[in-house]
Amino acid sequence: MFLHNKKMMYTVRVDRPNPAFAKLLLEQFGGPNGELAAAMRYFTQGWNEPDQKRRSMLLDIATEELSHLEMVAQALTMLLKGTPSDQVDEVEGGYLGDMLDGKADAYAAMSLHSTETVLGGGGPRLTDSSGNPWTAGYVDTIGNPSADLRSDIAAEARAKMVYERLIKTSDDPGVKDTLNFLMTREIAHQKMFEAALDSIADNFPPGNLPGDQKMAHAYFQDSYEGNPGEGSGEATGFDLTQQNSQWGFELDQDPVTHAPSEIRL
Ligand code: MN
Ligand code: MN
Repeated sequence: MFLHNKKMMYTVRVDRPNPAFAKLLLEQFGGPNGELAAAMRYFTQGWNEPDQKRRSMLLDIATEELSHLEMVAQALTMLLKGTPSDQVDEVEGGYLGDMLDGKADAYAAMSLHSTETVLGGGGPRLTDSSGNPWTAGYVDTIGNPSADLRSDIAAEARAKMVYERLIKTSDDPGVKDTLNFLMTREIAHQKMFEAALDSIADNFPPGNLPGDQKMAHAYFQDSYEGNPGEGSGEATGFDLTQQNSQWGFELDQDPVTHAPSEIRL
């Protein structure tokens, strides 16, 4: 069961309201790499995870992501505090309070930069920063631990990058401190998922079928200067055979003959 502890996981600081930044921050509330998507991704994966210890870790991280969602919600509310959007519901009367008691210009100007949060009545709405509603389509679980953990590692990397870009965009020390905590936790989650993947022996390729071993190490070099097959073609692609890689690639430079087949009608 979930219990509501009214302490935050980390003290949320916002030094001054900034509705335009609140709009950007919505990306981490209801966006594809945001906290709700992360919580739902790990929550659903946890119930599909056969290993009890990994299941427990997934559900723990899902719970922490909900704590992050709570922090982002508080930051959004503080970023909108005292702004015209906060006052909209205070205004009474006729046509939107006779155009918001003379604050129409400020409201209109702010709305251009923060529609999603203003129309949420000054609170967070479950959209991304462009107003697209949150969708379960952001949860890309396939139901195989080694495939899902790879997806989780990538999801944490993306969440880290979104926080990094938000931090660089902000000039508010309190906001930067809050987001730096959230960004750092996504780094920690990425490490946890990497460790969980390492704990699965023979985790590549995902699933049970090994694939066609003849084709599993071939790199089709299909990038050329000039015309391949006319003597002038020079391969320009990334030469994987020269890389110090565990996979042992073999180069196939002939794009015509590497997978001979016939068209049959
Ligand atoms: Mn998070
Ligand atoms: Mn995370």
